[in-house]
Amino acid sequence: DNHLITRLRAASVGHETRNFATFPARASMTFGELFAGAERNAAALVAMGVQPGDRVAVQVSKTIEAIQLYLGTVMAGGVFLPLNTAYTTPEVSYFLGDATPRVVVCDPAKYEAISGIAGDARVVTLDGKGLGTLTDAVVGRGGFDPVPRGPDDLAAILYTSGTTGRSKGAMLSHANLASNSETLRDYWRFTPQDVLIHALPIFHTHGLFVATNVALLAGARVIFLQGFDADAILDAMPQATALMGVPTFYTRLLADPRLTKERAANMRLFISGSAPLLVETHEQWEARTGHRILERYGMTETNMSTSNPYDGERRAGTVGFPLPGVEARVMHEGKEVPADEIGVLEVRGPNVFQGYWQMPEKTAEELRPDGWFITGDLAMIDADGYVTIVGREKDLIITGGFNVYPKEVEGLIDELPGVLESAVIGVPHPDFGEGVVAVVVPDSDGTTPEAIAAALDGQLAKFKQPKRIVMVDALPRNTMGKVQKKALRDDYSTVLA
Ligand code: ATP
Ligand code: MG
Repeated sequence: DNHLITRLRAASVGHETRNFATFPARASMTFGELFAGAERNAAALVAMGVQPGDRVAVQVSKTIEAIQLYLGTVMAGGVFLPLNTAYTTPEVSYFLGDATPRVVVCDPAKYEAISGIAGDARVVTLDGKGLGTLTDAVVGRGGFDPVPRGPDDLAAILYTSGTTGRSKGAMLSHANLASNSETLRDYWRFTPQDVLIHALPIFHTHGLFVATNVALLAGARVIFLQGFDADAILDAMPQATALMGVPTFYTRLLADPRLTKERAANMRLFISGSAPLLVETHEQWEARTGHRILERYGMTETNMSTSNPYDGERRAGTVGFPLPGVEARVMHEGKEVPADEIGVLEVRGPNVFQGYWQMPEKTAEELRPDGWFITGDLAMIDADGYVTIVGREKDLIITGGFNVYPKEVEGLIDELPGVLESAVIGVPHPDFGEGVVAVVVPDSDGTTPEAIAAALDGQLAKFKQPKRIVMVDALPRNTMGKVQKKALRDDYSTVLA
């Protein structure tokens, strides 16, 4: 059988007429229609020459047809390779050259440009209404028997977000995806009674494998939104039971006075991940809605690795416990550190990927032979087992031989009056190697670098205090709400020179 498809389909067998998806300005779609369309996609892809293991690269808008294309690719035995819709043609060119797909699906507006860089791949189109030459090739096709694929066969290559450097293609197997989504469905108690608000992009783990796969495995209904839209989310809330979001979803919703306990009364679960959720946001959300946001942690290479508990204490500022079947440890200089000490987080389990596509050296550096994956995130685990992400190893500042964890400094700055948020980075310094720089976004009350410096003076050792405080209107973030510290380091690379 086809390992992943059999599992994604199981919950809806016998319930084909149940509603799966609602899309704005569109009729809804049943589970039966979803999978029938996926089969037609699979048949069309095979007719285009897709064979087991072939990559199908996809840079398209978020539509239900794009989800059928994902399922159809896996049914055809292919490897689904979604690309961020924000990537420019030169960026897409790198991914296509790296992944050498058999078929590329893009927006009709990009057809010419993509054809020019697609090499031998067949290029077809799919637009924001679900129409294009792919659709033309799909309609009228009949049923399709999924191509048999085993647990270890590849189902997807997902490129990492490129926060710390060039994106790497993470090879994910059928079992990686199926096992993780099944674990999450059970851990978060998703059932056919659930209605999930889906406002995330579908080219990233969070929107595709966490949100979509968990809903399918549970036989839950999904309200798909094009992207974050406070009006649409607030409108959907009284009919919905769950929301998965990045932290900026929650801060933006908090800014809307229509977010109330009454409006959230039908909801049972708010989940956050992809970037750190501030303790303050967690607390404000509880005060406003009565719900404690459940924060979890994962990455492209591992899907989800840890989660706060459903029933137990959801501890703000932590990402909870390793998921069932997943092991986590914190390492420093080759040894596991005691509770509450900081080191590099490693994880092992059925969720861990198969390696980086065509990067054997990089794979060997980060994936140990005994299965432990070195995440590159700094973390600590407390005596109760809660994991706290402290930041990325690459963002750690070493100044005059001392370690400065940006999160510690950011935490203090963020609590000061007149501050909305901050990012603390290390930039070249002639004496100390690196020096601390704080990039600060003021709130409407406003503040000054002098006021911030004065407030930090009594609270932080001298070497941790910013040598320069820069005020900006906003921090650079990508679509997943991640602060682009690399961009900040480039922008401010000479301020301490
Ligand atoms: P690249 O690997 O290309 O530099 P990236 O690491 O941002 O990019 P992703 O795989 O999308 O690419 O993101 C995973 C990272 O996101 C994790 O390693 C971690 O740093 C961060 N992250 C995810 N969830 C959380 C969370 N709940 N709290 C803090 N950080 C998180
Ligand atoms: Mg990464």
